[in-house]
Amino acid sequence: MNLLAECSKAKRIGISGHIRPDGDCVGSCLALYQYLQKALPAASVEVFLENPPEVFADICGFGLIRQPEKKEQFDVFFALDCNAERLGSAEECFCGAIKKINIDHHITNKGDGDVNLVRPEVGSCSEVLFELMEKEYMDGEIAKALYIGMIHDTGVFQYSNTRPQTMRIAAELIEYGFDFPAIVQETFYQKSYLQTQIMGRVLMESVRFLDNRCIVGCVDRKTMEFYDITSKDMDGIVNQLRNIKGIDCAIFMYETAMQEFKVSLRTSDLVDATRVVSRFGGGGHMRAAGCTMQGTFHDCVNNLSGLIEEQLKGN
Ligand code: AMP
Ligand code: MN
Ligand code: MN
Repeated sequence: MNLLAECSKAKRIGISGHIRPDGDCVGSCLALYQYLQKALPAASVEVFLENPPEVFADICGFGLIRQPEKKEQFDVFFALDCNAERLGSAEECFCGAIKKINIDHHITNKGDGDVNLVRPEVGSCSEVLFELMEKEYMDGEIAKALYIGMIHDTGVFQYSNTRPQTMRIAAELIEYGFDFPAIVQETFYQKSYLQTQIMGRVLMESVRFLDNRCIVGCVDRKTMEFYDITSKDMDGIVNQLRNIKGIDCAIFMYETAMQEFKVSLRTSDLVDATRVVSRFGGGGHMRAAGCTMQGTFHDCVNNLSGLIEEQLKGN
C-alpha cells in the first residue's frame, strides 16, 4: 500500500482507532496524522478517538483529538489497530467515507476497508505504519509516536510479537533523539498511587483454578465507583497476573454494566487466546485477546474455564 498515493486527491482525511484506546492505537493515529499533514499540506487531516488516556498527552496532535459529529463526510477514512466494529462513534464516518482504509495487525481482523493491510505477524500497528512511511517525511515527533505504539504492544520489546525487524525499526526511531527512557517510564511503567492500590487489591483477591494453571482477577462496578476509577486505571493488571509462575492463562475482568464484563486474556503458548474469546464475539492476538461477556462473574469464569481446559488438555 502506498499511503500518499491512496490519499493523493483527498481534501478531507479522517483517522480513528478502537474504543478504549491504548498506546498503539493513540501512537499510530497521531503518527499517521502528523505524516499525512506534513506530506499532503493541502489536505485537512482529523483524528477521532474516545477518551484517549492523558499519559499520551505529550504526543504531537493529542490536543486535536475529538469525537465525530454524526454524518461527517470524508474522502478517505483510516481505521487503525482494529476492525470497523470497534471504532465506536467513528464507525459511521468510516462506513460513509468515499474510500475506507483499514490498517491493522489483529489476526481476527478480516479487513473492513476498500483497501486493507492486516499483518498479524507484526507486533503493533505502529510498526506496520512505519514500513509504509517515506523517510523524507519522518521526523522526531512522528518517530516518538510510533515508538510509543511499539513499546505498548510489545511490552517494551519483551513479548513474542517482537521480531528482529521490530528492534531494527526501534533503533532507527531512537536515532531521532527523543527521550525514550522517560517515555517508557512515564507512559508504560508509571502508575498513580491509587492505580497501584487497585492492582494490589486485585492480586490479593485473585483466584487460581484448573490445577493452578489459570488465574482470575476481577473488579466490580461498586469498587470502581468507590475508588472513582475507569478502565484506564486498570491497565497492566492482567500482565501482572500473567507473570505468576505456573500460570498458562491469566484473566482480568471488570464490570461494565449490570451482569456485563470486559474480559482480558493473556496466555502462554499452550493456550490460543483468540480461540477462547472468539466464542464470545471478541478478538485480538494468540497471546493477548479480549471480549465482552454477559452473566454473573461465576457464569463468565465457568464459560471461559471450559474452553481453556479443552486447550490445556489437548496440549
Ligand atoms: P485487552 O482486552 O485490552 O486486554 O486486549 C488484548 C488485545 O486484544 C488487544 O490487542 C486488543 O486490541 C484486542 N482486543 C480486545 N478486545 C477485542 C475485541 N472485542 N475484538 C477484537 N480485538 C480485541
Ligand atoms: Mn490496540
Ligand atoms: Mn495494536
